[in-house]
Amino acid sequence: MADTVEVELIVIGAGVAGCTAALYAKRYGLDVVILDKGPPGGQLMTVSLVENYPGFPDGITGVELGQRVRQQVENHGVEIVAREATSIEPYEDGRWLVHSADGDYLAIAIIIATGVFPRSLNAPGEKELRGSGVSYCATCDGFLYRGEVVAVVGGGNTAVEEALYLADICKKVYLIHRRDRLRADPHISRQAIERENIEIIWNSAVDEIAGQTEVESLRLHDTQTGQERLLSVTGVFIAIGTIAHTDWLVGLVELADGFINTDIHMQTNQPGIFAAGDIRNTPLRQVATAIGDAAIAGYSAYQYVSRHRGQEYGDYPEPGPAAAEQP
Ligand SMILES: Cc1cc2nc3c(=O)[nH]c(=O)nc-3n(C[C@H](O)[C@H](O)[C@H](O)COP(=O)(O)OP(=O)(O)OC[C@H]3O[C@@H](n4cnc5c(N)ncnc54)[C@H](O)[C@@H]3O)c2cc1C
Repeated sequence: MADTVEVELIVIGAGVAGCTAALYAKRYGLDVVILDKGPPGGQLMTVSLVENYPGFPDGITGVELGQRVRQQVENHGVEIVAREATSIEPYEDGRWLVHSADGDYLAIAIIIATGVFPRSLNAPGEKELRGSGVSYCATCDGFLYRGEVVAVVGGGNTAVEEALYLADICKKVYLIHRRDRLRADPHISRQAIERENIEIIWNSAVDEIAGQTEVESLRLHDTQTGQERLLSVTGVFIAIGTIAHTDWLVGLVELADGFINTDIHMQTNQPGIFAAGDIRNTPLRQVATAIGDAAIAGYSAYQYVSRHRGQEYGDYPEPGPAAAEQP
């Protein structure tokens, strides 16, 4: 066990949920480490403006909020280590061993806060031209397409927000949506519909992203008529939702559609393993909900570790079927 780092709590993921959970647990006196496969900050680093997180009446950029949260947890003495957790296995005395390519970590409790990732279109050309015109983040890559003609694929809040953001810097933005109405909130949908340089292409799906070394065009088909169309663009931003990467947790914790089931204490079906934020099976994935989950997970982990040490703190329940307490 020479190379194994021993702590009381391992938090996996340094997004807003992981940092908040670590902050709470550290302030309860736990010895905590955060592992993040990077870059830390998670999805917030791709959010242009967060306007619905209380306390910032004029909104705050995702980058600034992410950096502040990280700074806060580091100021409390929590180390964020650049490591990808690849598996978790039971160890002696009810502890858990977290494996990474660069070493193992052993702890009494674990909080999984690994968030979500953008969903792929799975269209020919998408993989090959990723980073050469295919992007999943307008805030990160939009400036590369200043004055150019680009497309956004999707019809939800993220797609519409990305189209509005790109419309400020690009000559023209096509918003390609499979249906005849947007799923995004009405006020931003209206803004997109009224924006001069946004053209919404309704009832259309992307069949191919074409280009020699960089994106040159998209081949679409009309979902109603089947008619094909070629669209000349230099960039395409894919915003068709998110997916949880939980393959490495299959067989360990109970999952629902890839998301982790927890009880109201954020505990999974495994004693001492908790989950928080977007990775959790939850009806809303936002900064406010991730932070709420994480505060509970940090507190629950503290109670769990205390019990493990033989100290009694509060009336922490015995682990039971996680799904039973789902809201
Ligand atoms: C474009 C966009 C706009 C948004 N706008 C808003 C908004 O206006 N308001 C709002 O409230 N919310 C918004 N959200 C949602 C909000 O950003 C998320 O709900 C929140 O950031 C989730 O935080 P998280 O910590 O759960 O996950 P994430 O931010 O996804 O963080 C997960 C972290 O885990 C790490 N990780 C993953 N797997 C591993 C592993 N195996 N080992 C180690 N580390 C790992 C990742 O590197 C990442 O740093 C938006 C999201 C997007 C994408």
